[in-house]
Amino acid sequence: MVLSSYGLMNPRRAKHRYHELRMDTKIFVFVKKVVKRGKFKTGQDEYVEKQILPKKTQDIPIGRIPVMVKSVLCNSTEKGECAFDQGGYFVIKGAEKKSWWTIPVHHCTGKTKFFLMETGLEYVPMLTTLLHSLKASSVFNKVNYLVRWKSSEIKITRRYDPVMAVENLHKLKQSKPSKYTFEHLLDQGILELIGIEEEEDYHRMGNQTASERAEELHSLRIGPVLPTGRVLYQSQKHCQQAIGFSSTNPNIRCDTLSQQLFYPQKPLFKTMASECLQKDVLFNVQNAIVAVNVHLGFNQEDSIVMNKASLERGMFRSEQIRSYKADVDSKDSEKSKKMDEVVQFGKTHRKIGRVDSLDDDGFPFVGANMHSGDIVIGRCTESGTDHSVKLKHTERAIVQKVVLSSNDDGKNYAAVSLRQVRSPCLGDKFSSMHGQKGVLGYIEEQENFAFTNQGIVPDIVINPHAFPSRQTPGQLWEAALSKGIACPMQKKKGKSDAYSKLIRHATPFSTPSVDDITDQLHRVGFSRWRNERVYNGRTGEMMRSLIFMGPNFYQRLIHMSEDKVKFRNTGPVHPLTRQPVADMKRFGEIKFGEMERDCLIAHGASANLHERLFTLSDSSQMHICKNCNSVANVIERGASSERRIRGPYCRLCESPDYVVMVNVPYGAKLLYQELFSICICLNFETNLC
Ligand SMILES: [Zn+2]
Ligand SMILES: [Zn+2]
Repeated sequence: MVLSSYGLMNPRRAKHRYHELRMDTKIFVFVKKVVKRGKFKTGQDEYVEKQILPKKTQDIPIGRIPVMVKSVLCNSTEKGECAFDQGGYFVIKGAEKKSWWTIPVHHCTGKTKFFLMETGLEYVPMLTTLLHSLKASSVFNKVNYLVRWKSSEIKITRRYDPVMAVENLHKLKQSKPSKYTFEHLLDQGILELIGIEEEEDYHRMGNQTASERAEELHSLRIGPVLPTGRVLYQSQKHCQQAIGFSSTNPNIRCDTLSQQLFYPQKPLFKTMASECLQKDVLFNVQNAIVAVNVHLGFNQEDSIVMNKASLERGMFRSEQIRSYKADVDSKDSEKSKKMDEVVQFGKTHRKIGRVDSLDDDGFPFVGANMHSGDIVIGRCTESGTDHSVKLKHTERAIVQKVVLSSNDDGKNYAAVSLRQVRSPCLGDKFSSMHGQKGVLGYIEEQENFAFTNQGIVPDIVINPHAFPSRQTPGQLWEAALSKGIACPMQKKKGKSDAYSKLIRHATPFSTPSVDDITDQLHRVGFSRWRNERVYNGRTGEMMRSLIFMGPNFYQRLIHMSEDKVKFRNTGPVHPLTRQPVADMKRFGEIKFGEMERDCLIAHGASANLHERLFTLSDSSQMHICKNCNSVANVIERGASSERRIRGPYCRLCESPDYVVMVNVPYGAKLLYQELFSICICLNFETNLC
């Protein structure tokens, strides 16, 4: 075997050569010709006669396979190679990295034979030795390669996923704890690396039994295996959208848009993941008492009911800060410009917006109330061109600060930060840590909530229907565990460690079992199953059913109804379809889609439907010839030798006599025209009505 196809190849060169195929190995067969002679001449049975074949044809390439970087065949010792490259991938077409490589294998009847891809030559032993050498002698012993023989292909993958090998776990007791490094454990065979392809063949869950091959390093790693879409909801969407307290210098910063929670709280318990994410330092959540109940039907379809008193005390109150920036011309650039092009800040009355809250320097005073149509930063040139920055028409806010500063390049800028306090209001979005999102459907007076024996009233009431199909028992366990933690422990006589026995860790698949949680609740005097006897807030009567109640960690998400509300009378339309635009920033309309259409049809409200979808949308007219049912156009034609008249005219009948005008949505007209352009002509039958 010789490592060369374009001279000596190494990973660095391969990465630079985009046009060539790959860093690869040619497989050569050394061809020898055996010449038999009689014993009498040489004393040997046979000898090899090299001279018979010319030197060029002695080594015949029979195929090429790529070489894995850092494998034994790889020339990676040369200078210029990246010392930190872990290898285990293939370089193909220069830049492309592949972590696996497949070699197609064809089947023959009976014994399976292997053919190399490019030549089609059959060569089994060479290939196996090659793959074996790839597998066995990689540079780092922790980089192992899995060579997998499937029915139709050979797959070479890098193994990267560490698991504990159950059969070697007994070795742990023999070696000293100080030797427990990752590499050491790998050497001992206690840890084992497995590849992607192997994962499906391994038993990875459960306790250690001899029959199982491997065990996870930590049971938390089973988590991703579970098919819970709600985990992804929380970890990808809601976690990003939750409002928190993200910076320590909010009063200096000039972010374009930022949100801050007024009273973020620490979680009641930790998990391994929350410690890694520093959830107890960078908190963005509040502990709310959540009841699972139907509250007068105001929490249907994932909406939630909130306690007005809690909101007035500041629960989930947040602040939105938006900054408007304007560049300030430096003195150098002022010189280069003409006198009347220099932009100057100042308060001058404009047509584009109000300047009531601006000072003479063109900036608003701190505390000014800005409304839609106000100018935030006033500036213009000598010639009168306006460069003012206007408040977005969808916003209103109070001026928090006016900043004159410079950026890293020394460019001066002015920034005006506007602040708006937002208490939760109807339509705002909230979510627990279990992907159970919902919008605020009703703000209820505290007195009207069901209350417990202790007089506890929920902050949030969610609907029980949120649980069965979503399969998020975690939220219920969270409530149960939090409830036990939140209660003051009653010390038993003679036992001082009652408090220390509190379960404060709740890593999934680890310590607290269901029994631990229920026991803890029972110790502080609650029902094991967390249900509570409650009394109707309106009548004072005891309610017949028990209600599940407990503290849940709740997030306020950035989707707020104030940012989304839109309404209009008339306004801009889309130039192509002539239907109203949807964009809120351009005074768009609320979408009236198919579902809404179905709804009006179901109600039989046809006049309403006609108004909504036609009169207020894209009503238009069209000329139809009653004689030939085709569309008549408005054209200019010669009526007599001198006079030319303009009007609807049927070109087919060559007469304007039968033309009628019909009301038709512009969308239909557009469809007619588009079909016409591909040689499909529609005919319209008209009737008087
Ligand atoms: Zn590097
Ligand atoms: Zn006609």
